[in-house]
Amino acid sequence: RAKRDGRNAYRFFTSEMQAQSARALLLENALRRALERRQLSLHYQPQFALDAGGAARIVGAEALLRWQHPELGWVSPVEFIPIAEASGLILPIGEWVLREALSQLRRWDEAGLPQLTMAVNLSAVQFRHDDLPELVGRVLAGTGVPAWRLELELTEGAAMDNPAMAIAVMNELDARGVRLSIDDFGTGYSSLSYLKKFRVGKLKIDQSFVRDLTEDAEDRAIVDAVIRMAGALGLQTLAEGVETEGQLAFLRRQGCQAVQGYLFSRPLPADAFAEFALARTMVSV
Ligand code: C2E
Ligand code: MG
Ligand code: MG
Ligand code: MG
Repeated sequence: RAKRDGRNAYRFFTSEMQAQSARALLLENALRRALERRQLSLHYQPQFALDAGGAARIVGAEALLRWQHPELGWVSPVEFIPIAEASGLILPIGEWVLREALSQLRRWDEAGLPQLTMAVNLSAVQFRHDDLPELVGRVLAGTGVPAWRLELELTEGAAMDNPAMAIAVMNELDARGVRLSIDDFGTGYSSLSYLKKFRVGKLKIDQSFVRDLTEDAEDRAIVDAVIRMAGALGLQTLAEGVETEGQLAFLRRQGCQAVQGYLFSRPLPADAFAEFALARTMVSV
């Protein structure tokens, strides 16, 4: 009986694995055509600076990739980014994201939005590609966006994969004036000793630490420690996934400089973002 259970468990496992890899293959093939078929778009989530007076001022946007397939519907980036990375498709897609996000920033300038920064997520695969600093320089020049308005988000894994190379790439991007931040900070395995060598200006505190802030004393201790360490190292902090006033009040009290999350806004299509930003700017003026 044990034998039979074992075999069934094994067969169940393999058929599930087969279904998973069939879906991955299907997505990879569909993703190959997604760019040319204009199925990819960007949504933008507003980022806010927490001013001393208690106001939250919109200062930037994070570009988040969206894929709508005619039969598969909306596919989450959590599912398709790893497939794009494994297949190398992340390189053309990532380049498109960069160009589209910065072009959008210029359109918002023309529409009278305040001068915002644009945060773009970078995959480790893009980060390892030797052409990255030149590519970024080319897209900045092509769109006419000054380098300081672009913020590239890397994960700890992308940086720690090959720290020597990461430091060299960060130095090149820094020399061009581009800003760098570490995304999902606290979830990876970055060594604190590298933090002072990395040319990053900001740590994005992962939403997993923010989620239970008001109930979980350990999460509060972690977030407090990250904010204080960042302050001591001269780094900014932005908390991700802020959904409640209670979380916001804690973050503000501890001296976190910036926030983004559903409490303020979900990621929005470009036009809705512009409306949101304009309405918000009028109110606070
Ligand atoms: P991320 O860069 O850490 O982005 C934050 C994610 O949290 C986004 O999910 C956003 O929609 C979601 N979020 C924002 N505020 C809240 C909140 O208050 N509560 C909760 N529960 N979630 C919130 P999304 O858009 O599904 O993106 C998931 C991940 O996919 C991103 O995590 C990023 O790692 C990756 N990704 C998205 N776009 C790109 C891209 O253009 N290039 C690369 N390489 N990765 C991307
Ligand atoms: Mg991000
Ligand atoms: Mg994140
Ligand atoms: Mg993430």
